Amino acid sequence: MQLQVTEIFKSIQGESSLSGTPCVFIRLTGCNLRCRYCDTVYAYEGGDWLSIDDILSKVDDYKCNLVEITGGEPLLQNGVYLLISALLKTGKSILIETNGSIDIERVQGFKGLRIQGLKIIMDIKCPDSGMSERMNWGNLDKLYNNDEVKFVINSRGDYDWSKEIIKKYSLADRCHILMSPVYDNLTAEELSEWILNDNLNVRLNLQIHKYIWGESVKGV
Ligand code: SF4
Repeated sequence: MQLQVTEIFKSIQGESSLSGTPCVFIRLTGCNLRCRYCDTVYAYEGGDWLSIDDILSKVDDYKCNLVEITGGEPLLQNGVYLLISALLKTGKSILIETNGSIDIERVQGFKGLRIQGLKIIMDIKCPDSGMSERMNWGNLDKLYNNDEVKFVINSRGDYDWSKEIIKKYSLADRCHILMSPVYDNLTAEELSEWILNDNLNVRLNLQIHKYIWGESVKGV
């Protein structure tokens, strides 16, 4: 079994409740969406075909206990489930970052192990992404309470829409909620003020790697 991999690298986790923590990222190739603000267009195609053993070996080289499988959209490749299983057997903590359009049922199959260290970070695509209608809303019923949903906010319209979704689906009762501004289009200050004014029980996320290394650097 091989997976198409765009890159494997170690960086600082920026987009989850583990923000600020060193993490190895496995970026799988391919995405079924085309968000207007996408900053990983280079992951749509290309990369290398690697065996699970090759991936494990590269991950092991980084000597880091936290691993995020991202993309692109990582759940598009069937081999991802074997990869998750193999990584869990090594004792690593795993984050799966998924765009919310793919059924997460098969990840649910790891229920017994998920308690040991598997967490889903699932996007809920806001209107400005152009991809809201591609959401698989049934996924919300499949989240565990240690999972996280992430709204990437581009405008006040996105923010107000997100508030309605949080309320409509009682998201605060289901999982952790993250909000992150689109780097170029909305300041962290603006989004923070909205959150504070509304007393919204969410966690602000910033794409820390962009603040550290700049927005155009890949593999960090
Ligand atoms: S889901 Fe992620 S990788 Fe795919 S188009 Fe949207 S931002 Fe880009």
